[in-house]
Amino acid sequence: MKIIKAYGFSFFFGQAQDFPIEHADPTFYTSCKKTIDALKCSTLIIQEQTHGTTGMYIDKDQSQQNPLQLKETTGDYLITNQKGVALGVLTADCLPIVMIETRNHIGSIVHAGWKGSLAGITTKVIEHMLQKNFFAPADLHVYFGPCAKSCCYEVQPEFLYALAEYPWHERVIEQRNEKLFFNIPLFNKLHLVDLGIDPSHIHMQYNECTICNTAYHSNRRNGHARLCQLSVICR
Ligand SMILES: [Zn+2]
Repeated sequence: MKIIKAYGFSFFFGQAQDFPIEHADPTFYTSCKKTIDALKCSTLIIQEQTHGTTGMYIDKDQSQQNPLQLKETTGDYLITNQKGVALGVLTADCLPIVMIETRNHIGSIVHAGWKGSLAGITTKVIEHMLQKNFFAPADLHVYFGPCAKSCCYEVQPEFLYALAEYPWHERVIEQRNEKLFFNIPLFNKLHLVDLGIDPSHIHMQYNECTICNTAYHSNRRNGHARLCQLSVICR
């Protein structure tokens, strides 16, 4: 597990070797405990993910409940301003996104698959952060983790209808050998830029392809969705 430090936060995008177990496995609990110990955090929260656009802002009351709050709530993003509270998402081709707001020290983690991305989950997260704290787009830094990328992420022609409402839809589909490939990181990046986020604050260096890089679990490559990597942010 490579822990990244930025703007007072620690975070990591897990690899298959960090989390080689199924999340229904009893040892999932033990592995999560080891994770918060490694990050020196008091609490780890992971939701039951639904590929939707709802999520939670973790305040003091919520953060002082059980040290491991695993799948007790449903949603696809978590936000907190609380120190020592680790927020996690499980992914295996969907895009994990870490957001850090540097003025009020708010951390967020997002599970953005194609459904959540097209439904505007990044907008929802930023709106939720703004409801609680004032900040300017310049205060936000965004890090994309590993996901299915356009080298491998084939989609069917019907998918183009779902994209049609976006002015930049042609930029996020690549055509090769009569096949179509979706660029989900670019889709989310363009969304964030439309919201006023500085493109130089959208960091892509951890955004490797999960399908062609065997360091990661991939639903497409494995043919099932039982194995996921854990990504976590904590202050
Ligand atoms: Zn690939």
